[in-house]
Amino acid sequence: MLAVCINCWHELESESERCPRCGAIVDSESHSYERLLFWALKNSQPEHRAEVCRVLGLRGHKEAVVHLIEAVNDHATVVRVAALGALGAIADESARPVIEKALGTESLEVQNAARRALKQIEASRKQPSSIPSTEPRTPEAAHHVR
Ligand SMILES: [Zn+2]
Repeated sequence: MLAVCINCWHELESESERCPRCGAIVDSESHSYERLLFWALKNSQPEHRAEVCRVLGLRGHKEAVVHLIEAVNDHATVVRVAALGALGAIADESARPVIEKALGTESLEVQNAARRALKQIEASRKQPSSIPSTEPRTPEAAHHVR
């Protein structure tokens, strides 16, 4: 899945710009598509909100992090798990506090998703991605890593 059609929720496997099911134009590279995803994250059914989380995780854009952090506090477990998965995939440090908080929730599913997300953030810090980071390393923080 590369994108999802916000009109009919068909999963798009290619970069085709037209949804094969409903014919809606899906310009997944556009800003308006991203804004639609953020909108759908708040205004669609739980299973669709979860799907939007997964798409945002695949896209990996940092702008999504703040929206995904909100989704971690969704009342639907399926959305919370998907949001944590996406935050792990994007692996942005700013998501760490909300992920750590999710470790303390009553849902085992959410706890596991949070644990996986934290591992992904740790891994991305040890092996920097191809995008060069200008952020200084913090040796104090590294000591707390098990
Ligand atoms: Zn469609």
